[in-house]
Parts: sequence; C-alpha cells; structure tokens
Amino acid sequence: MNFCPKCAGTLEERILEGKTRQACTVCDFVFYRDPKPVAGVLAFKGEKLLLIQRGNEPKLGQWSFPTGYVDIGDTPMETAVREAKEEADVDVELDRLLGVYSNENRTVVLIIYVGRVVAGTPAGRAEALDARLFTLDTLPELAFDHDYHILEDLFHQNTDS
Ligand SMILES: [Zn+2]
Repeated sequence: MNFCPKCAGTLEERILEGKTRQACTVCDFVFYRDPKPVAGVLAFKGEKLLLIQRGNEPKLGQWSFPTGYVDIGDTPMETAVREAKEEADVDVELDRLLGVYSNENRTVVLIIYVGRVVAGTPAGRAEALDARLFTLDTLPELAFDHDYHILEDLFHQNTDS
C-alpha cells in the first residue's frame, strides 16, 4: 500500500511504538498490518497423524497440517473441520485447542486443534496434492519451522497429562 486509505495521501515509514509503520503524511493515519487468523487441526486416526502435501507456494510440495484462513462468519473450529474436509477429504472431530501460534513474519496467527479422523480415506483435494496418515516416527520433512514447534507442544502436553 502506497497511499492512505482515508485521504489518498502519500504514506511514509515512521517509527511508532518501537516498530516501523506506514503513516500518512497528510492526515497522520497509521496503517497497521494485521495478521490473518488461520485455523488447522492435528487429526489422528489411531496412532497416525494426517498430513497434506501443499499444492501452493510457499513450500509447494512439502507436507504440513491441513489449515486455512478463517472466513468472516466461521469460527476457527468450523474452519479447522472444513479445511480437513476440503484438503484431505476426511471428516474430523475436534477434541481440544492445542495452542495459538504466530509465524516468523507475523502475517498469520495459527489456531491449532487436536482431533480425530472419524470418516473418510485421506486423499489430496483442492490446494493439496496428496493427503496421508503417517506414524509419528515416519513423518516426512515438514514445511514450516512452526510445524515442529506445534508438534513439540503436542508431545509435551501428552507427557504432562
Ligand atoms: Zn491520510
């Protein structure tokens, strides 16, 4: 964005609240870049974890959990269930919230649940090239550093309980 959304004035970079922001040189409007909410699920069938092979950049062809942007009008829980259906063609039920994560670039906030595959055979659909169940000791390389952080949280919570 190069122009102010309020008055079409030129934006400039300013240091505000210790961060570099875009601000309007005419009306002083500050353009805050908000991260988008993304919801997803670690869905298990028995001991196996559902992963999808990404069909989009970034990380095209690499494996991750089914996730998607939360649409206005949908809850994060509804989004997580919908994305598992859209990307892996399975029905999942959510058991609990695992955690909330933001990535290195802070462009998204991830809301990750733990759940179960209750129906369907995983098959890649929509933005997913493939979808499969993996045992935890045979996981492929995962697409994002935060995927590993999320899995560590799952293991720690399972150990603590
Ligand atoms: Zn302005």
